[in-house]
Amino acid sequence: MELTILGSGCGIPSLQKSAPGHLIMIENEPLLFDSGSGTLARLLKVGINYQQLNHVFYTHTHSDHTADLIPLLQALRTTPGYTRKNEINLYGPEGFSDFIQVMAEIFGSWLLVPEFPLKVYDLGSDRLQFANWTVATLPMQHSRSAIGYRIETAEGHSVVYSGDTDVCPEIIELAHQANVLILECSFPDVKKMKGHLTPSEAAQIAAQAECQHLILTHLYPPFDIIEAEIQSKVHKIFTGKISIAQDFMKIKI
Ligand SMILES: [Zn+2]
Ligand SMILES: [Zn+2]
Repeated sequence: MELTILGSGCGIPSLQKSAPGHLIMIENEPLLFDSGSGTLARLLKVGINYQQLNHVFYTHTHSDHTADLIPLLQALRTTPGYTRKNEINLYGPEGFSDFIQVMAEIFGSWLLVPEFPLKVYDLGSDRLQFANWTVATLPMQHSRSAIGYRIETAEGHSVVYSGDTDVCPEIIELAHQANVLILECSFPDVKKMKGHLTPSEAAQIAAQAECQHLILTHLYPPFDIIEAEIQSKVHKIFTGKISIAQDFMKIKI
């Protein structure tokens, strides 16, 4: 299993940290988690064509996580010389299929019948079994509905991705002894925003979950302030490996 951070930022445009997007390769299957603005182009840059995608997972419907969803479906339908045969499976939190319906009212009814098989799943506390891997979800504390994901291979290697969340028991449960925990870390401790994590909170979650490697992502600018706080505070609470996510960072698991 290999993780590539496609976007380590949030909804604020930045040349350093792009909107959220995470690629997990399991054998030759690319799994995409969130697709903020520009994710599809960054996917091409790491050598994965959007046409290879069969499963795309969304943590919630905020635009910094979903902006490239409509462009993905449009590209799959209209790329010259390409006829999509494979099913595309889109996963999201409760209400996700309603979100697609509303998008179809805005962008056109083709979205619901895009000339290739499209399946949409609303997830809460779920566990999906695939050939050599499983995906488990639990609700996070952020927007009206948001979920986090745990991806685990048949060999027991695991990655957990929080999406956006505040402190909640579910993220600690989902991340229990994970090899890699990708946690959002939006604001410094003194600028705590409801629905998001600070460095100290993220560190406590990682410590309680007993994960091996904590990757902090979804940083809001100014990046130097929050990065300095991560460096100074997180190590004191969490003793495992700590990384600040960067665009195009790759981690083998
Ligand atoms: Zn976000
Ligand atoms: Zn959000």
